[in-house]
Amino acid sequence: GEKKLIRGNEERIYVSVRLRPLNDKEILSNDVSDWECINNDTIVYKNVSLLASERSMYPTAYTFDRVFSSDCSTREVYEQGAKDVVISVVRGINCKYSFSLLLVLLNRVWTTLTSFYTATVFAYGQTSSGKTYTMTGVTEYAIADIYEYIHKHPERDFVLKFSAMEIYNETVRDLLSSDSTSLRLLDDPELKDRLERHRLMKRAPGLTRLLDWNNTSTLAAAVDFVDLAGSERASQSLSAGTRLKEGSHINRSLLALGTVIRKLSKEPNGHIPYRDSKLTRILQTSLGGNARTTIICTMSPARSHVEQSRNTLLFASRAN
Ligand code: ADP
Ligand code: MG
Repeated sequence: GEKKLIRGNEERIYVSVRLRPLNDKEILSNDVSDWECINNDTIVYKNVSLLASERSMYPTAYTFDRVFSSDCSTREVYEQGAKDVVISVVRGINCKYSFSLLLVLLNRVWTTLTSFYTATVFAYGQTSSGKTYTMTGVTEYAIADIYEYIHKHPERDFVLKFSAMEIYNETVRDLLSSDSTSLRLLDDPELKDRLERHRLMKRAPGLTRLLDWNNTSTLAAAVDFVDLAGSERASQSLSAGTRLKEGSHINRSLLALGTVIRKLSKEPNGHIPYRDSKLTRILQTSLGGNARTTIICTMSPARSHVEQSRNTLLFASRAN
């Protein structure tokens, strides 16, 4: 039968691959689609002109939790690749994490101790592979589902908060604020600064209830939706002078995320280097502990992009 997203703790990372259709530019330049999805979970490289030497160097079939062919809609991707994670967090099952709560408030990113349910949905892939296209739809469907859930549960009170931030060159900005100053990340030692905490409570009384540890009927939950920079920026083999849409320097957050995901899936109890970048520091709560993570790896089917597509599949395989 169909695999469910919510499974045992040992399988916290759900990995899917989404193939987009060839775009106009690729069609106009006579590019061809070389990838095919089979059995809902396997993607195959079917370039028949492939040299035997190359064939032995790279796998031709890759299996994940789920693969979405180019004719799958974003709704299908959401329903089968992210919905369970989103809903389970809102219901407060399976994703409990009792260490820290992340809030973007008063121009700060604030972490504090509480009982917390958390999950992350993110898109990974090279520039123009469909990350933004996918995440835009997935986020909209998720928000609609959260509202539907809230309406169906009049017996519960809900406080819904949205935040949007951008990390660019290791600078964090609040996208919902007209103030363009960068956000500071506060860490656990600073948490002990009772005064700051007290000031926060005074300025945001609505939060006091959420953060009341003694109130066992209170549940805090968060889902992070992450639209990453183009994965080519994590590629060490980038040739000098290559011009890229999102800048040509290697992206520290992206590299660090790759390492964190790899370590989490291989040795979750070992040292996880969250501190290496802003992105991994912010996502620490949503990636560690019993948090659920679902990764949608987007890729172009074009022959001209085979190298980046393989890099994406390699990342996906390491996370799986
Ligand atoms: P990225 O964010 O990875 O750089 P985009 O999401 O901006 O890529 O996608 C690049 C272009 O391809 C956009 O014009 C987008 O509308 C289109 N596109 C991406 N994925 C799909 C898809 N699955 N079906 C149709 N068009 C797509
Ligand atoms: Mg984009």
